[in-house]
Parts: sequence; structure tokens; C-alpha cells
Amino acid sequence: MRNGPATLIFSVLCLCAAPCGARRQHDEPNVVVVALDGVRWQEVLEGTDPALGGDRRALFAALRGGLGGRVLAVPDARVANGTFKSLPAYLSLLSGRWSDCASNACGRAAVETLPERLARTGLPSAVIASWAPIERAAARSPGAVFVNAGLQPLDDGTGDAVFAAINAAQAADPPPWGAARRDRYTMAHALRYLRTHRPRFLFVALNDADEWAHQGDYGRYVDALESFDRWLGELAATIDALDAGGGRTLLVVTTDHGRGRGAAWRDHGGDPDAGRVWMYLRLAGGAPPDHALGRITHADLRPTVEALFGLDPVRCPTCGRPLAAVLAWARLPDARRVAGAPGGAHAP
Ligand SMILES: [Zn+2]
Repeated sequence: MRNGPATLIFSVLCLCAAPCGARRQHDEPNVVVVALDGVRWQEVLEGTDPALGGDRRALFAALRGGLGGRVLAVPDARVANGTFKSLPAYLSLLSGRWSDCASNACGRAAVETLPERLARTGLPSAVIASWAPIERAAARSPGAVFVNAGLQPLDDGTGDAVFAAINAAQAADPPPWGAARRDRYTMAHALRYLRTHRPRFLFVALNDADEWAHQGDYGRYVDALESFDRWLGELAATIDALDAGGGRTLLVVTTDHGRGRGAAWRDHGGDPDAGRVWMYLRLAGGAPPDHALGRITHADLRPTVEALFGLDPVRCPTCGRPLAAVLAWARLPDARRVAGAPGGAHAP
């Protein structure tokens, strides 16, 4: 990637070096989730694959090193769908339950989604995604929560000149695939939105790696992963700067699905190894995590976030459960109140 979001938003830093929003309570929780589409556990945990090109080289050093804070690593999680494709995974992540959706052509979420519920509860939330179909996973009711996805320009209703500049840049630089914009613009939008709106919940979804993988271009796939790691560092630094003015943010990084092994690395749906995913949870400073997580799935994210905000976690036969170890580690006031509370049944 030639131009990172840091370049694009340099002027933003000059205008808004201090937190832009109102001062917050020190313990007030916020959650930022970043989903990196189609990033195999093999590259995250083991680095580049010599069988696919070049020497073995470590990747995601910043993420695995804690992004300047503490991380709880979940190296072996599972998707909550049976097809290991993208839209089913985003539906599970944002609806907090097993998804029977079997393709990327599914309709929109059938239940009120996590960001919709948070927004309705008075917790400003937003979803900013490179891949257009994520809009259908983010909202059962279009307009209930702020969603910007695909090649759609971002309009936050303020006439902001920085968003306009990013919109112009992404329109002039279409990717060689459809229904998505390049991630550098998504990330620039997300950082700007975080600084200017300070949402309590932000879901950011990046896509370049999956596209390069489907094209069989391992070199560009690895380039995309290196960009992701660099941008996660920028994001964590931004979060920490904002939190210095109040608030405490849990950053969650995961992928929607893995990919096949060896020569099957280009694709995912149908390959059992693609059902294995990973997750990193990060807080700035504080005590290191001393809790081990058992087997978790994508469906556990929503109830865990709800519990962090002090809400009753979603419950249904295939819903995930709040991760008590995460809540205890985060040591947020609301988390203490609900940690250890019985959760719903686990996804099948
Ligand atoms: Zn995907």
C-alpha cells in the first residue's frame, strides 16, 4: 500500500490532536471491533508460508505484541456457521448467534443487530466496512444505526471536508474487484469517524486480503496483512489518545473465516480448516490477562459486548455466551456487575 490512512488524515491530526468529544468518565467502556476478511490463522500465528513463497517471516508483530497495551489472544476460535463464508460470519458476529445463511447472497439480518440495539439504547454506534454486503449483516432496519459500506461515500451529515476528501480519493481509485473499496479508505474513514464522533461501539471491516487471496496472489495477500498490522497500531494509538480524555476501550481484532491449507489457501467455503479463526482482545496498560478462554465462537462476541455495556446479553438456543474471562480482565464497572452471570446456550 503506497498511501496509508496516516497520510490521508494528516490534516485531521493538526486540527484535532486532542480528543474532540466531550470529556468522559474514566471507567466508561467503549468497544472497537476490527474484522480482517479471510486472514488465516497460519499467517497470524506462524508468519508467511514458505510453501507459498519466500522464507518464513513473522507477521502481525504489532498485534501479537499488544499494540502498546495488553492482549488476550484466542488462537483457536470457531466460526458460528456451517459454510465458512463471509456474510454468514458477519451475521453471526453482529447477531450473536449461529447463522444458517449459506452464501454471500443472503438477505439482511433477521433480528435486531448488536449495533442497532446499542444505538437504540443510547450508545452511539457505527459500522464502516470495505465490503458492501456487510450492510445487510449490520442492520435489520436500514437507518437504525450508522452504516457505511462498499463504494458508498461516507456522509456523516456534518459536511466534513476530510470525509469529502477521502470520498473523492476512493472514487478515483476503484479496486480490481467489485462491491468493495480499498481498505486504506475504509481505515481513513474509520479513524476520522472515531476522532470526530467518538462512538461507544465501532465495527470496522477490512477486505483487501481476501480479494488478493482469491486471485492467488500470495505476495499481495501478505502486503495486505502488513498494512493491517500497521493500521492496527495507528488505531490503538488513536484509541489511547482519545481515552486519555476519559473512557476505556476494548479493541477486538478477528477474522470472518480462515482459508484452506497449502495449495488450497486461495479459497475457503467448504474447506474445514477455514472454520478455524482467531481473535485478539486488547486493552491499554493495566494488568496482564490471567484468564484462559475455552473454545469460543463468533457468536460469543455480541453477548460479551452487551455485558460490557451492562446490558442483558442476547439469549436464544443458538446464541453465544458472555465471556466471563474477558469481562473479568476488562475490570470495567459494568463488567464486574455481570461477570459470572449465566449465559445463553452455546452455538452448536
Ligand atoms: Zn470473507
